[in-house]
Amino acid sequence: MTDQLDLTGVTPESWLCVDCGINTAPGYPTRVELERSYKTSVAMKKLSGEAPPIATLTFNDRCEVYTVRDSVWKAAELEPMSGCICIGCLEKRLGRRLNPKDFPRRHPFNSMPGTERLIERRDGVGSMSKHKATAAERRRFGLPKDCTIEHVDLHDPNLAPEHRDNFITGVRSEAARLDEIIAALHRHRDEPKYGVDNIAGLAEQVRNLCGHLLACKELFGVVIIDDYPHLRRLLQTFSRSNYARLAATERAQ
Ligand SMILES: [Zn+2]
Repeated sequence: MTDQLDLTGVTPESWLCVDCGINTAPGYPTRVELERSYKTSVAMKKLSGEAPPIATLTFNDRCEVYTVRDSVWKAAELEPMSGCICIGCLEKRLGRRLNPKDFPRRHPFNSMPGTERLIERRDGVGSMSKHKATAAERRRFGLPKDCTIEHVDLHDPNLAPEHRDNFITGVRSEAARLDEIIAALHRHRDEPKYGVDNIAGLAEQVRNLCGHLLACKELFGVVIIDDYPHLRRLLQTFSRSNYARLAATERAQ
């Protein structure tokens, strides 16, 4: 053991996020603390013949210790070894969500425990974000076999554009489907097979769709209702206030 240990450039000067100041490794010593405890350990060994451990390092679910590819670090306008940054602030700089491809698989930092959001971005799992559709889900959403369901937070400010577009496309196709059913119901309103049961089921589906139409308008500024005349007429007739909320503001008098 030498008396001096120089960890400059090896371990971060500080674990605090360079942007927001949150500690990305609570319970983990800084470079200065590590070097100091190394010195203490050397001194103790000289005195007692026994060296205490230099540091106990704990990584837990409050840590965001990871490495990303150089290209990602550079895209965030960060210098090599310039400090730590939490996942939230890194994503803010990048203007997008991180995904497993951003994290070099073999780096030892990238297999440690960490916060839920770190694990979710790094491993593409966690909090049910992505899973194989269960039989019940396939029935409910009419999905094919071997289909994967991905849960996406539409309120996420870094929501990927394809998730927004997928959502809007999904809502539009549901609107188109119900629009057709409503048109058919209207055409065949005197036939017994279009009975009360159908209408009750349809009302439920329209209610669900209204929630999604509202999300499209409020989160993404996309007004869909006016593109589907039968659906629009149904809402205008039976739920004027709902229609007003879903339509473009200037047309909602
Ligand atoms: Zn931060």
